[in-house]
Amino acid sequence: MKPIQLITPVDGSVYAERTPLTLSEAQSAVDRARSAQKGWAKRPLAERIALVKAGVARLNAMKDPVVEEIAWQMGRPTRFGGEFGGVNARTDYMSEIAEKTLSPEMIEDSNAFRRYLVREPVGVVFIVAPWNYPYLTTINTLVPALIAGNTVILKHASQTLLVGERLAEAFHAAGVPDDVFQNVVLDHQTTEALIAARSFGFVNFTGSVGGGQAIERAAAGTFTPLGLELGGKDPGYVRHDANVEAAIDTLMDGAMYNAGQCCCGIERIYVHEKHYDRFVEGAAAWVNALNLGNPFDAATTLGPMANKRFATTVRNQVAEAIAAGAKPLIDPKKFAADDGGAYLAPQVLVDVDHSMRVMMEESFGPVVGIMKVSGDEEALRLMNDSPYGLTASIWTEDYDTAAALGAQIDTGTTFMNRADYLDPALCWTGTKDTGRGGSLSYLGFHSVTRPKSFHLKKV
Ligand code: NAP
Repeated sequence: MKPIQLITPVDGSVYAERTPLTLSEAQSAVDRARSAQKGWAKRPLAERIALVKAGVARLNAMKDPVVEEIAWQMGRPTRFGGEFGGVNARTDYMSEIAEKTLSPEMIEDSNAFRRYLVREPVGVVFIVAPWNYPYLTTINTLVPALIAGNTVILKHASQTLLVGERLAEAFHAAGVPDDVFQNVVLDHQTTEALIAARSFGFVNFTGSVGGGQAIERAAAGTFTPLGLELGGKDPGYVRHDANVEAAIDTLMDGAMYNAGQCCCGIERIYVHEKHYDRFVEGAAAWVNALNLGNPFDAATTLGPMANKRFATTVRNQVAEAIAAGAKPLIDPKKFAADDGGAYLAPQVLVDVDHSMRVMMEESFGPVVGIMKVSGDEEALRLMNDSPYGLTASIWTEDYDTAAALGAQIDTGTTFMNRADYLDPALCWTGTKDTGRGGSLSYLGFHSVTRPKSFHLKKV
């Protein structure tokens, strides 16, 4: 098999290289996961929870190398310290609600009938993970899947090959058996062949729309349940009654954090005409204060994009928009580290419209377009004019307005006065090309379990 190379965005060198499994080696991994599953599911729930939490604790103990490796693999500045806050909060919440969510639900227990519902593990869960939040996106499925009594096979992104190895090391050191959680290196062909061979009880794919479509095609006819957490083009809307300074700060952070490589990053902003001038001025100042550079430099607030090819997509979208009349507010010359490759100066565009790719297609980079709107009707029309539906961030002073607007937006999550955030108690989900299914919250357990009904009658 041809080795998979991880090219670091830090300096373009080969940072790691791994040989993917052959199809028969991968099938053996699935066989081992199947054999281990019944024994794992028989262990008491409290024991599974304790082992999963111990695995996450071991991962926390590896913080220093983990943070350094994230920077090498995908360029996030080390000053941001890894993904431990979210990893721990999600693990704790899913652990806390497991017993209640997974307990049988008694409908009737009388002299005539005992009728109840149980949730069973689906068997072997397959996680196909992306590089942009490499730990968080994996934890969302790994933790509930193991707690619910499944075994798990993880195939991580080529850009973040070492993340699966770290997770496996941590969980195995904590006592999770090797065959209960396996990290594997696979190419696309083998990944798809395993899915097509009905190897899994559930597949969670987080990644691009094209990748999600390939997974759906591979699963066609197998009836394998799929969770598809795909792209986004998330809008922010600053209403006339918004706190504009708070909106500038949160929305620009939502657009630029992680070099814009967040599925729920803010990619387009609609601002009420009353606030437009101040918002645009504040947005440009906010972005000009960023420091693009080497992710190991403590002063760096904006690292390189994870790969030169991702930066090329953004450069092309921006150039096309400017050629079509958009106005760039940021002078790229102020960002001397921009090398024409993975290190990319951030950009804020005005005079944009929805005929431009930068307002319609996912950019997944440090660029945002801002449009002036006259009020709710126009903002709603523009927010819904998108192939995606992951989150929408509304800036207003009252809950009822945000809720009423949220009800009219085709989106997975409506935020009021916040953005780019996952709440473990709420379901992470999307509509349209953002995919289907849900992770986190009690519904996240539904993805990794199947219902089973018991209808018992006395005669
Ligand atoms: P990607 O290229 O689709 O890859 C995601 C994962 O799928 C990687 O492990 C990749 O493996 C694998 N993969 C891709 N195509 C495949 C195929 N045809 N067959 C088998 N496996 C395949 O996506 P990405 O660039 O890593 O991630 C960025 C995308 O993820 C963005 O669109 C972002 O919005 C989305 N995302 C969504 C969410 C959400 O919650 N909705 C969260 C995070 C990210 P290789 O790396 O080996 O190619």
